[in-house]
Amino acid sequence: MKRITVLGATGSIGTNTLDVLARHREDFEVFALTGARQVEPMLALCVAHRPREVVMVDPPAARELAQRLAAEGLGHVVVHTGPEALDSVASHPEVDMVMAAIVGAAGLSPCLAAARAGKRLLLANKEALVVGGEVFLAAVREGGATLLPIDSEHSAIFQSLPDDRSAWERRVDKIILTASGGPFRTLEPQALRDVTPEQACAHPNWVMGRKISVDSASMMNKGLEVIEARYLFGLGPERLDVVIHPQSIVHSMVQYRDGSIVAQLGTPDMRVPIAYGLSWPERIASGAANLDFSRLSAMTFESVHDAAHQLRFPCLALAWQALRGPTGSTAILNAANEVAVEAFLQRRIRFDQIATINAQCLAKGTERPPTDLGSLLELDRRTREHAEAEVKRWGAA
Ligand code: NAD
Ligand code: MG
Repeated sequence: MKRITVLGATGSIGTNTLDVLARHREDFEVFALTGARQVEPMLALCVAHRPREVVMVDPPAARELAQRLAAEGLGHVVVHTGPEALDSVASHPEVDMVMAAIVGAAGLSPCLAAARAGKRLLLANKEALVVGGEVFLAAVREGGATLLPIDSEHSAIFQSLPDDRSAWERRVDKIILTASGGPFRTLEPQALRDVTPEQACAHPNWVMGRKISVDSASMMNKGLEVIEARYLFGLGPERLDVVIHPQSIVHSMVQYRDGSIVAQLGTPDMRVPIAYGLSWPERIASGAANLDFSRLSAMTFESVHDAAHQLRFPCLALAWQALRGPTGSTAILNAANEVAVEAFLQRRIRFDQIATINAQCLAKGTERPPTDLGSLLELDRRTREHAEAEVKRWGAA
C-alpha cells in the first residue's frame, strides 16, 4: 500500500490523478489533498477519496471546508491552511509519493520539501523545476528522492531512454519534444494581436488549466518544457529540439547516435503518464483509450524553425536564451510569463505582448545569481514587480 499526497488536487492533473488512483484502491491510499480556495470541488474529492488531511491555502476556504466536512460526517479529516501546510503534507513521514500538480512557482516550496524528505516526486508542476533549476536537483540528490516526469513529453522521453542513466550522455544524440502547435498554429502572425483568452484556452487536443492553455497557445509551454528537459535529462541546450506534430500522438522522441529514433505513442490522455509515474517501473491500467490505428488518418510534422512559426511563436526561442544565460535566467523567464499570462487572462494586455514582456524581463537579467530557495523566491518576487510595471506600461499604451 503506497500513501500519496496530491498537491493541486482540484486542478486538471489533480483530478486525473485521483481518477487513476480510484482504479487501484488496493494499492494506493490518499494521505492528503491540497487546493487553493475552491471548496465545492475539494469537498467532492474528500467524499470520494477519504484523505486523512486536507490543505486549503486560503484561510476562509479552509474554515468553510472544515464545516462542510463535519456536516458530511467527515469531521475526522484534518484541515490545514496557509502555504507552509503544503510543505508539511508533502514531506510527512507517512507519505511515500507526492504528485506535484500545483500551477506555477507557488509549487516550488512543497516540491523541495518532498525532495528533501526523499519522496517519490511525480512532477507535473514544470514551473517549479524551471524556477528551482540546480537548487531543485540538489534537493533531490541530497534527499535521496526519486524524481519522475508527469508532463506527457517528458514521460515519453523517459520511456524512450535506456534504463541505465549513465548511458544517456553517451548513446543519445538529441531529444526531440513534440508540440501540437496549439490553437493558433495556422493563424497569420499579425492576427495574434486580436486573439481572446477564450480562443487561447480552446486547445485542439488537450483539456487543461487556463495558465498552461495560454502557454500552449504561445508555445511558452514548449519553451518551459525544453528547460524542464534540460534539468531532468542533463543534456545541453544544443541537444534539445522541438517539432510540431498537430495530432499529439507521438508524445516525444529520443534520437540516438546511430540515427535510430525511439518514440512513445498513445492517445492524448494525461492519465497515461500519471499511471506510469505512479507505477514505475511497473505498468498499471490508466483508464485511457488505446490508439485505434484503423481510425488514424495521418500523422504530420512541421519544423518550428520555419520562418512563419518563428514569427508566430517568439516565446519558444526565449527558452534557449534563458538556458544559455546566467544562473537565474530560467526563473526570471518563468516569473515574467506567469505575470504576463495572468494579465492577458484579465484582458489587461494583448496576447502578443506576453512575448514582449517575457523578452524584456529576460534581457534585464539579475546582478545577484540565486543559490538557494530564499534567493530564488526573492528573484521571483523582483521579476514579478518588474513584469507588473511592464504590464501597466503596455496595457496603457
Ligand atoms: P489547474 O489550474 O487545473 O490546477 C492547479 C491546481 O493548483 C489547483 O488545484 C489549484 O487549486 C492549485 N493552486 C493554484 N494556485 C495555487 C497556489 N498559489 N498555492 C497552492 N495551490 C495552488 O492546472 P493544471 O492544468 O492541472 O496544471 C497543473 C500543473 O501541471 C502546471 O504546472 C501545468 O503546467 C502542469 N501540466 C498540466 C497538464 C495538463 O494536462 N493539465 C499537462 C502537463 C503539465
Ligand atoms: Mg506537456
